[in-house]
Amino acid sequence: MPGWLQSLRRRREARVLQRRAIPDALWQACIAQLPFIAARPAEQQVRLRRMASLFLDRKEFSGAQGFVVTDGIALAVAVQACLPVLELGLDCYDGFVGIVMHGDAVVATREVVDDDGVVHAYDEELAGEAMEGGPLMLSWADVLPADEGAAPATAYNVVIHEFAHVLDLRDGQADGIPLLGSNAERRAWGQVLMAEYDRFCERVVCGYATVLDAYAAEAPDEFFAVSSEAFFVTPRALKEEQPAMYRLLASFYRQDPADY
Ligand SMILES: [Zn+2]
Repeated sequence: MPGWLQSLRRRREARVLQRRAIPDALWQACIAQLPFIAARPAEQQVRLRRMASLFLDRKEFSGAQGFVVTDGIALAVAVQACLPVLELGLDCYDGFVGIVMHGDAVVATREVVDDDGVVHAYDEELAGEAMEGGPLMLSWADVLPADEGAAPATAYNVVIHEFAHVLDLRDGQADGIPLLGSNAERRAWGQVLMAEYDRFCERVVCGYATVLDAYAAEAPDEFFAVSSEAFFVTPRALKEEQPAMYRLLASFYRQDPADY
């Protein structure tokens, strides 16, 4: 980026940061609900707070069916969405603008065609959905589950999950391989991903308890999204259970959350 463009951008960001500064009380209340962010070093929290302001400036929140998106709700989404791109930059999310918030999970009717050409309709309950070009959909009831304090058996974080899909989709394919620099990197990523995915599916089939939700066995792109949840929410458990997947994600996100 040319120097003049960089300084223009810096000036614009400075104005946004001033206009969109997050009040202390709101920030503290938000972080108190998110222990995996509260555990981060102060320096990272400062950068996260700054990035959340820029995120709130660039994205457009809307409430579906009368749901009211308060400042606290928008901030809770923003800060969790920014965590995965803390070292990658907010530009990773430039492909879309709209975020549609529902009060609760959304029931979507899906159709599948079987081998005989018969169409089967079924209902699917969605806590969130990411699609190329947006908008991104989230259910608030799933963003901050009421029983958060009850130490869930598996890592669950719908915001990180859906934004991991956004990162995966940047190369136009939902395949668990995010946008990487070269074909060689893609191949290497695919090899580790599939080996770890197969290992995980075996554990699920054998009925073992897993750090990752069994939903991750659905497909490699879901495995990437669910692994990303665990990477940020319960990093030590993921590192212990699937060390190669942890290392892969650590190299991509340029973070080592098991340290905190
Ligand atoms: Zn998913």
